[in-house]
Amino acid sequence: MQFNMIINGSKVDTERHFNVYNPATEEIIARCPVATEENLNAAVAAAREAFTAWSKTSDDQRKEKVNALADIISNNMNELAQLITKEQGRPLDGMGFGSFAEVGGSEYWTRCTAELTLPIEIAEETDTHRAEIHRKPLGVVGSITPWNFPLLIAIWHVIPAIRSGNTVVLKPSSYTPLVALRFVELAQEVLPPGVLNIITGEGGMGRLITSHPDIDKIVFTGSTPTGKNIMKNASDSLKRLTLELGGNDAAIILPDVNVKENASAIFEAAFINNGQTCAALKRLYVHEDIYEEMCEELTAIANTVTVANGMEEGAQLGPIQNRDQFELVRELINDAKSSGARILTGGDAPEGPGYFYPVTLVADISDGTRLVDEEPFGPVLPIIKYSDVEDALQRANDNPNGLGGSVWSGDTAQALELAKRLECGTAWINNHASLSPNVPFGGVKESGVGVEFSTHGLKEFTSIQSVVIPK
Ligand code: NDP
Repeated sequence: MQFNMIINGSKVDTERHFNVYNPATEEIIARCPVATEENLNAAVAAAREAFTAWSKTSDDQRKEKVNALADIISNNMNELAQLITKEQGRPLDGMGFGSFAEVGGSEYWTRCTAELTLPIEIAEETDTHRAEIHRKPLGVVGSITPWNFPLLIAIWHVIPAIRSGNTVVLKPSSYTPLVALRFVELAQEVLPPGVLNIITGEGGMGRLITSHPDIDKIVFTGSTPTGKNIMKNASDSLKRLTLELGGNDAAIILPDVNVKENASAIFEAAFINNGQTCAALKRLYVHEDIYEEMCEELTAIANTVTVANGMEEGAQLGPIQNRDQFELVRELINDAKSSGARILTGGDAPEGPGYFYPVTLVADISDGTRLVDEEPFGPVLPIIKYSDVEDALQRANDNPNGLGGSVWSGDTAQALELAKRLECGTAWINNHASLSPNVPFGGVKESGVGVEFSTHGLKEFTSIQSVVIPK
């Protein structure tokens, strides 16, 4: 199947193509254009041209268009969900968050973002003047998305950008470009040409986008090393940046936790999307009094999970999305084994085809091992024993990442005091990895710059103009 880019409202193909694979079968499922620099320049020029009229549309007009995009997502739910499962691997109705849930979430986020507004604020009012704070769109936004939630993350970038009057050039991950290509094609039914463009390409294109002199802002979700590269490349033209990068979220389980009642929620928070989630629970610190019980309960849950091709009925988790990620997960698990850790379940990948890895739980492991210190981004969870909660908190914070974190306890007040001391952008109590379009989300330390969602996220696609009016 051949997919095309969309530039200035038209389908565009090129001479060179790259293949897209189904991670469950390793078969080629589509071919996509490798954009040239000329294609990128054309997309940026189209976005710049469209910005003149789009930025002048009224708030109500843009709200209407964004709601029309939500309708498009809803009307094409089945096709979009199938594309996600084929290219990303996640089951259609998978555990916690299947492909249908990703499409449903995309519609929901789009509708909620349509409702957000940035009215003029009064900064100062005196006898002689009134100073107003106006929010103006930035111009052309370059969006670079990863392979773990290929539609939802594109929506998180694109919708607030156009809602606030910007135009966009989107570049999806070369592992999972298909659902984004189809969404942008469908979006042309409601958006004027040039407002939303999409180009595809393998390594190299990202660098051209982030250093392009006529792109005003980059919104990026992906790895921390790439985020650092983007910051360097974007510095020449002082682009605005929103960077949502890797996480290595810790959860601290206090000794009063009822293990049986909470184990399922802890399990799902760790294995949502097969662990390939930036804010998944990735380091589980459990008090020694309930450590063995927690290990047994999580193992019992893991042993009920069906890992299979996401198109098959009954599949709860699918394969890892790509070969490199699969090899990283295997490397970290092997390293844990050789450090003397105890594999409670899983541990070894079956023979291919497909990048399948069983749910792997690792006990008797601690900080200082690669599996704990690094982000595995796959179906594996290290379970770390602690005896002193201050020590657990210090270890939870002793990591360059700072995306999310959680504290679990029957005593909410005690949990809250600890949660406030976690060094992370979002702290949950008796919960982990739940996101909402109304709650700002972003990382501290090396997990990112800026936030997404809510009016706080919307503001990142605007600049302030202070307007001082004499009386
Ligand atoms: P990357 O950060 O390399 O890729 C994400 C996106 O950035 C892709 O669209 C990619 O394009 C693009 N890109 C790559 N290099 C550059 C560059 N120099 N400038 C601009 N854009 C660039 O992630 P990977 O796919 O390599 O995954 C590696 C690790 O990243 C994972 O192990 C995981 O830890 C983390 N990750 C985190 C995610 C999150 O949600 N925070 C999501 C995915 C991964 P192309 O595909 O064309 O190379």
